[in-house]
Amino acid sequence: MPIKESVPSAAAAVAEPETPSKTRAASQYTKWDVFDKAGLRPTIIRCDVLPGHPADESCKTNLIPGASAMLRHMDMEHGGGFLITVKEVAPQTKKSEPSAWPGWSELRTAGAEIQFLRCEVCDALLNQSVRELRTHLKPHRGKFRGAYQAFKNMFLFNIQFTPPAAVGDDADESWDA
Ligand SMILES: [Zn+2]
Ligand SMILES: [Zn+2]
Repeated sequence: MPIKESVPSAAAAVAEPETPSKTRAASQYTKWDVFDKAGLRPTIIRCDVLPGHPADESCKTNLIPGASAMLRHMDMEHGGGFLITVKEVAPQTKKSEPSAWPGWSELRTAGAEIQFLRCEVCDALLNQSVRELRTHLKPHRGKFRGAYQAFKNMFLFNIQFTPPAAVGDDADESWDA
């Protein structure tokens, strides 16, 4: 029986989309699980401009609310700013329970790190804790009159593939515009 020359099947594989997480190590600083513990699921994710960054850096579009879309826009160097509107669903109290949104752990696996997290209602920079998130989901005094009604459940995430600036001695900081 003649040995059949194996046909390269690589052509089919090439069409597969690259998974952005492939070569990156998991996040080491960001506590992505607090969002599951708080029971938060994004309903709207907008690729948005970070404070102090050029207005044309981000594409300012609403993404399909999944981690892969966020990672893709980070890979396209859209700045890493995401304005995320969340809704509260059942919090995850044990690892065995379903997560509020699989994207939180996908971002962790992809090595994404939160540089800062800002409440859009009051502009406060938030700690990554369940208590802090819940406090800012409740009605509270905003940056101006009516800000809670306008911006409730909205958080601005600055996400990068580098350690948070406060942690590392990253020389490549971009604090000033
Ligand atoms: Zn974008
Ligand atoms: Zn707030």
